[in-house]
Amino acid sequence: MTAEVTAFDGEKAFRHLERLAVTIGPRLTGSPGEHKAAAYIAGVFRSLGLKVTQQRFPSITYGNHKCVLEVLQGGRWRQVPAEPVLLSKSTPPDGVEGEIFFAETGQLEYLRPAMKDKIVLACGTVRAEDRPRVISHGPQAIVTIDPTLREGLSRAVLRDENRRTYGNLPMATIRHLDGLDIIKQRARRARLVLRNSEKKSYSLNVIGEKSGTDFADEIVVICAHYDSHWRIPGAADNAGGTAVMMELARVLAGRPSKRTLRFIAFAAEETGLCGSICYANLLARKARRDKKVASFDEKVDKTECDRHRLTFNIDVHGCILGRYLATFNGSEDVGASVRLLASEMGMACEVQKKPMSSDGTPLAAVGVPNVQFARYGGTTSFGHQTGDDVRYLSADALTGAGVFAERYLRRYVTDAPVFAFPRQIPDDQMKDIKEYFTSGKMPLPGEEPRKKAVVRRPRLRGKP
Ligand SMILES: [Zn+2]
Repeated sequence: MTAEVTAFDGEKAFRHLERLAVTIGPRLTGSPGEHKAAAYIAGVFRSLGLKVTQQRFPSITYGNHKCVLEVLQGGRWRQVPAEPVLLSKSTPPDGVEGEIFFAETGQLEYLRPAMKDKIVLACGTVRAEDRPRVISHGPQAIVTIDPTLREGLSRAVLRDENRRTYGNLPMATIRHLDGLDIIKQRARRARLVLRNSEKKSYSLNVIGEKSGTDFADEIVVICAHYDSHWRIPGAADNAGGTAVMMELARVLAGRPSKRTLRFIAFAAEETGLCGSICYANLLARKARRDKKVASFDEKVDKTECDRHRLTFNIDVHGCILGRYLATFNGSEDVGASVRLLASEMGMACEVQKKPMSSDGTPLAAVGVPNVQFARYGGTTSFGHQTGDDVRYLSADALTGAGVFAERYLRRYVTDAPVFAFPRQIPDDQMKDIKEYFTSGKMPLPGEEPRKKAVVRRPRLRGKP
């Protein structure tokens, strides 16, 4: 095979992108769109001769049927464009109506008992951990004003864990100028009708594996999430990254690799990294099981989790006007390797040491170093908005990212005589990674599930 035949082809990648973002369209967690995309990716992996497996896990799919906000202004009811916060509580069919309580920025200082029975309006998000305080004051709903002047509103969704921890009530968001108008016109009352829906479903991680020739026990994950938010084509985020990953699979499947490559299309990233958390949890569970076997020798034997050496995660790609950003976790050499190759190729790529909010991070929590590679641009300000479509993306932009990723993986993974990076996450970074999950009230990947606490009721003596 000549180098030309195996080189990354942006046009081929772009066809995957169009298939995902246009033909299939929105790929919400647990929805038929997500399942269709999984079948498409699995088919492509199979055609490349990869060993395909799918990890199925329970998920919640959701939507909204109605979100109408009206305000009483100058004696007349006026409708204000509003976006539902998905998975927040629905109102009764006729909605809720009450006086407007303006809670400034929605910070703790502004959350008062006076909001009882009112519609709370705040410029900025009420933090999840402050929600119990709000709920204890008994308002009917929260409407948040976007603190920036942007036109479109991002799809907001409550994570299941989050609402179970902090409680739930009807929530919606409005644009900055609409909020400004409500305040300036001194609107007194508001009415919100919110009908959200949700259903138990399932999601699928699609895995395509190619065994290594020399060091088959060293596994490198090359991944991207393929789901999108509710009713959003998710072109740059992340049909773009998925397309790059799929074209890398074609290129790298067609030539020998010293190490085992696992191409993974993760599901349900947008609802809280659910796909990669499931993958990391399974690795951790298998490792705990392996270590319990009497013949397991810590000094020589390695669990499947230990054999994972690196994650190369590709999230948000394809915008014509954009700039590259790579984050990493692991030894300083991981960051240096990205910087070095980018300079050699004459490509600007900002490199930051931090956990990115994407699928490499759950694997880092179980000890696997990562590079998380993105391309941000003007159009990524449409992230999680309906405007995230293919118009702003191109095959050339995918080529730029793909050629870099291909060279990186060939140099450090498929062709390297020795693996360049230790399998290690330094303690200070592990602290940041844990903080990322705990602050978002997400379960820490790899942790043994806690047994439910047994609540002992005190036995009452005599009559209450
Ligand atoms: Zn993404």
